[in-house]
Amino acid sequence: MGHIAPPRLNSPVTTLSGVGTRIAARLQHLGIHTVQDLLFHLPRRYIDRTRLHAIGSLQMGQEALIQGQIELTQLQFGKRRSLLCRISDGSGALMLRFFYFSRSQQNKLAQGMHIQCWGQVRRVGNKLEMIHPEYQLIDNYDQGQLEQTLTPVYPATEGLSQNKFRKLTEQAMDVFRRDSSELPELVPETLLTEANLPGLVDALSYVHRPPPDAEIDALLLGHHPCQQRLAFEELLAQHLSLRCLRERVHKYPAPPLQDSGKLICKFKQQLPFDLTRAQSTVIKDLQEDMNKGVPMLRLIQGDVGSGKTVVATIAALQAIAAGYQVAFMAPTELLAEQHYLNLRQWLGPLEIPVKLLTGKMGRVERESVLANIATTVPQFVVGTHALFQETVRFSRLGLVIIDEQHRFGVHQRLALLEKAGEIHPHQLIMTATPIPRTLAMTLFADLDISVIDELPPGRQAIKTIAISNQKRQEVIDRIAVACRQGRQVYWVCTLIEESDSLQCQAASDTCEQLANMLPDLSVGLIHGRMKSTDKARIMTDFKGGKIDLLVATTVIEVGVDVANASLMVIENSERLGLSQLHQLRGRVGRGKHQSDCVLMYQSPLSNPAQTRLETLRRSNDGFEIAQKDMDLRGPGDLLGTRQTGLPALRIADLARDAHLIPQIRKTADLLLNAHPGHVQSLIKRWMADWLLFAQV
Ligand code: ADP
Ligand code: MG
Repeated sequence: MGHIAPPRLNSPVTTLSGVGTRIAARLQHLGIHTVQDLLFHLPRRYIDRTRLHAIGSLQMGQEALIQGQIELTQLQFGKRRSLLCRISDGSGALMLRFFYFSRSQQNKLAQGMHIQCWGQVRRVGNKLEMIHPEYQLIDNYDQGQLEQTLTPVYPATEGLSQNKFRKLTEQAMDVFRRDSSELPELVPETLLTEANLPGLVDALSYVHRPPPDAEIDALLLGHHPCQQRLAFEELLAQHLSLRCLRERVHKYPAPPLQDSGKLICKFKQQLPFDLTRAQSTVIKDLQEDMNKGVPMLRLIQGDVGSGKTVVATIAALQAIAAGYQVAFMAPTELLAEQHYLNLRQWLGPLEIPVKLLTGKMGRVERESVLANIATTVPQFVVGTHALFQETVRFSRLGLVIIDEQHRFGVHQRLALLEKAGEIHPHQLIMTATPIPRTLAMTLFADLDISVIDELPPGRQAIKTIAISNQKRQEVIDRIAVACRQGRQVYWVCTLIEESDSLQCQAASDTCEQLANMLPDLSVGLIHGRMKSTDKARIMTDFKGGKIDLLVATTVIEVGVDVANASLMVIENSERLGLSQLHQLRGRVGRGKHQSDCVLMYQSPLSNPAQTRLETLRRSNDGFEIAQKDMDLRGPGDLLGTRQTGLPALRIADLARDAHLIPQIRKTADLLLNAHPGHVQSLIKRWMADWLLFAQV
């Protein structure tokens, strides 16, 4: 056999002893491919096997290492047969209980033997007990092994025992100790000192094997400086990757969209309302950006109903007046169609061509739209992500607008870049997710941010009530009253299972039922499985007042805008999250009428569901609701991979580590200026997969 080089940090895990293809496959499942990946797979918690506890001192619920002598072992028959084994260490006695045991196990646990056990203490009657402890028979008191460090417990290691995992991390640590130059320190020392954080080598070693005197409480909460140090570096890498993305985009020229303002002036004159102060301010931000020869990268945050569409339209007019095309991307087909109809109405009188492109279009229609996009300048193209598929060629794209960003992510924005030629379009991204400012500045570090912080005047707060599903009749009476007054109503059926078809089925059943119970009303149905033309027809009928009650699935969640609708009923609202409920509720309260939202629920409500419904009942403020959502679910969940397009954080937790953000921004500035090499290494260390995709 030839000489085998010792593993290095970037060697595959199979170079470690005890890792064959089977184990390697399981590790791969956890995202662990290399020795270094093992190092960055941090313990979820710790247990203390560095010291023995006297049995007499044990508290209920405590996990403890104990040692004692077996006084008695016997079978107990009862509801369930078990093996009981009483041990004592002089300070007290404790019962070990086994439900699963072999004859030989039973024989070995003989009276007089010494035993060391690890487990959680329970109290049964006035006796202490451990169920199925880990144990080891020992010859005498001195032979019991005490661990030299706190024992790490790693996150779910399907098919891999904790012991195995500890052996693997031990080996990874050895490789690391032998040569840590492969994992150099990338955060400047002065900044570490300033932030009172340890170096990388110390932090990693500590976190995998904390010394016996470590503050276990801080470790369990993730507050220990060594953990914070790693979270800091991870957030820093994420932040830097976005900043680099921004720099990359800014290297390209963009068409300066200068405009006399005539077209916009004409458009504003025909609007049935004046813009709010907030809208005007944001429009100014956009116009300034678009005048420049570098691509605009701007995010507009504005609560549901704050009037983002009209702001985007004015930006679009500036591009159109300058002779460019505008692509307006919506997250759902339904919303794309709504925007299309709306824009045609707004822009028709100005003789601006508006086209629609969605994935569900027939081939002939699609080809004709594609041909049109390739030649017609200027024009406005509305669509779903179908807009950014390979076959779409814009001839002169000046501005890209992405609506309801919380449904898209960085990925889509990147796909856009691939479409761009030497000249990049300006980008405008809109979101109704009111993320607190510091968080937004991290998660959208590649974007400038403008906020529409007021609603159009005359809006009355939506009144929200929660009603049990059992009082369905009351709700139906309310519907009748609203429609008699000339208003319109939404009834939303929520997801029963992860099955789209079942959800659509439920909606059509409900529709039939409601139509029977409300014979005087015209009841319509809309769901995701309907043909696009049927969906469009239903929405037009609802908008035109031909339908009184619209039964829908959550397809209407975003963007649908019918000002005369004043009642929103959400069935089984306890199944939805806060943000989604707020979005749905935002479909009403868009006109001058007092609007109501009825949250129907199935009793009994879980505690979190109760809190959610209560929060909505109390507040109409998207910011407040988002904050609450974050408290309940954590920002990781709320702003997860799906929304940001960023990989899930491995170590950092935005709720826990938000206080690090100011320091992270400062560090990022410094690194970008003085250590560009470190920037690339940090991104590579933490965001390797993302990097491949983003080519930052
Ligand atoms: P969102 O921000 O949720 O996308 P929309 O753009 O759909 O909101 O606007 C909601 C409704 O408010 C639309 O019917 C729109 O025409 C109307 N609207 C927008 N701006 C104003 C305004 N300044 N005054 C009155 N109504 C407005
Ligand atoms: Mg909108």
